[in-house]
Amino acid sequence: MSRPAGLKGIAASIGVAVGQARVIGKEHRRRPHRQIEQAAVSVELARFAKAVSSSRAEIESAKQELTQKHGPTYAPILDVYLLMHGDALLIDAISNAIREERVNAEWAVSEVAERLKKPLLEDTSSYFQERASDIDHVKEHLLRHLSGEQRHESPVDGPTVVIARDLTPADAVHVLAPPTVGLVTELGAGSSHTAILARTFGVPAVVGLGPLPEIEDGDLVLVDGFSGEVTLGASPRERRAAERRRDRFAAFLRAERSTSAVTPDGVSISVTANIELSTEVEAALENAAEGIGLYRTEFMCLDRREPPSEEEQLELYRGVIRAMAPKRVVFRTFDWRGDKRLRADHLGERENAWLKTQIKAVLRASEEGPVSLMFPMVATLAQFREARALVEECRATLLDESARLAALPVGMMVEVPSAALLANRFAELADFFAVGTNDLAHHTLAIDRHDGRSAAGPLDPAVLALLERAITAARDAGIPCSMCGDMAADPVSLGLALGLGYRQVSVPVSVLPLARAVIRNIDLEAAAEVAREALECVSAHAVRQLLLERLGPSLGALWKDQGLV
Ligand code: PEP
Ligand code: MG
Repeated sequence: MSRPAGLKGIAASIGVAVGQARVIGKEHRRRPHRQIEQAAVSVELARFAKAVSSSRAEIESAKQELTQKHGPTYAPILDVYLLMHGDALLIDAISNAIREERVNAEWAVSEVAERLKKPLLEDTSSYFQERASDIDHVKEHLLRHLSGEQRHESPVDGPTVVIARDLTPADAVHVLAPPTVGLVTELGAGSSHTAILARTFGVPAVVGLGPLPEIEDGDLVLVDGFSGEVTLGASPRERRAAERRRDRFAAFLRAERSTSAVTPDGVSISVTANIELSTEVEAALENAAEGIGLYRTEFMCLDRREPPSEEEQLELYRGVIRAMAPKRVVFRTFDWRGDKRLRADHLGERENAWLKTQIKAVLRASEEGPVSLMFPMVATLAQFREARALVEECRATLLDESARLAALPVGMMVEVPSAALLANRFAELADFFAVGTNDLAHHTLAIDRHDGRSAAGPLDPAVLALLERAITAARDAGIPCSMCGDMAADPVSLGLALGLGYRQVSVPVSVLPLARAVIRNIDLEAAAEVAREALECVSAHAVRQLLLERLGPSLGALWKDQGLV
């Protein structure tokens, strides 16, 4: 038998997956060009019209499914695709191409989509790039319906591994649910939002694998979310070994569900959850989260033209706070950047109005239980002052309307180097810090967080120096400081975070049990010693080696069993 194909990418979400491939987005490869007779034009137009209506029906039903599973908040994500099914620029242009150029519908769909995408792709702004990918998604839907494959669901039965060039966060929300057990993408990095969602949903993932070999729906795929290895054509023996590791890890996670996070030297570490969707609260509680340390609220706006109304947000936030009470929920105001942007360009004025709407919803919801509010991407002292003033303005408006409001601590993300550099001055203004290592590494090292090479970012000594600065300033000022970036979610670098002095971490829901297990094995004095040495290292690579050598052994069986090192 031929040797199995072993591929290596970036380990983006821990765990092992064994499943059949479900290749997404391969429809664009099949687009035969056929010149048709005049008499066949009406037949081709009818085929196209049927494909449009069945594709629209499929999206309608996906929308209903999304509403059933996650409530009404996320379903508008699909509205844009529905609108495009009636868009003259796209749909009429395709019909015209069939009629006037006398080509088959598949060819007309592909050609018109490429034509519409071209000017969008010439603009480097992520907004236009995303609009181009919307066109691609609709094109793929139409091609699939033209080919007669009338399905949105997986074409294979049982557990599937999704294989894609890339996923938008909106796609990821749909795709990373059962029967999906693993994810493999050609593009992406460990801190990209698709990777964050994979961790959120506990789906083992390898991203940034580079060009994939030909993979067919139904092929056996093994995904190792610890090492970043992906195996195609595995032998029965390899398959069984992977299944054993998968089951062992699942048993480990179950056993760790409600354990404590006390270090061997008796220090209790607070471990809270990062969530993107309100529906994750249940899993956060099941996995004994001590609260929600970061609620990335912008995920409720993915692919929407504007955020939900104040009343809609209020209802959603109340639900989250009630479910978590008496544990605290830290709301982060909308962070619309990069792949999480709203479907609206030139936010400007409107963004400010939307921010006020959100702050009012959080203030009103804060009656239900302990809540904090924080702002992302704070870069200057003036910005944070303005942000606080905005909260006060919203509070005053609500008090005029005689709402009863509880106290609301207002904090900030430390994820821009300027904020870390002036952390001592920010600490005088903020009620708390939450350190975002993903963006901090990205902005400190001038690397793209979506670029695979940024995987080691947070471990660079320059980033470590800023992390130390932030925690020291917080400690001196007596304000809480958590680490909610993915450095805390990585079992190797979590030990270093503790060594630098962090005593509160917030991690994706699926990582909660592992984070606590790591903490129980890290002696804080030893970790502090390692942190001092790490600050003197010359590179992120050297820091990682140091961590593996010095902290790896104390993690004992955990490392070995799961092949973490
Ligand atoms: C971060 O930047 O580390 C962070 C936690 O924020 P996000 O990943 O949502 O940008
Ligand atoms: Mg960030």
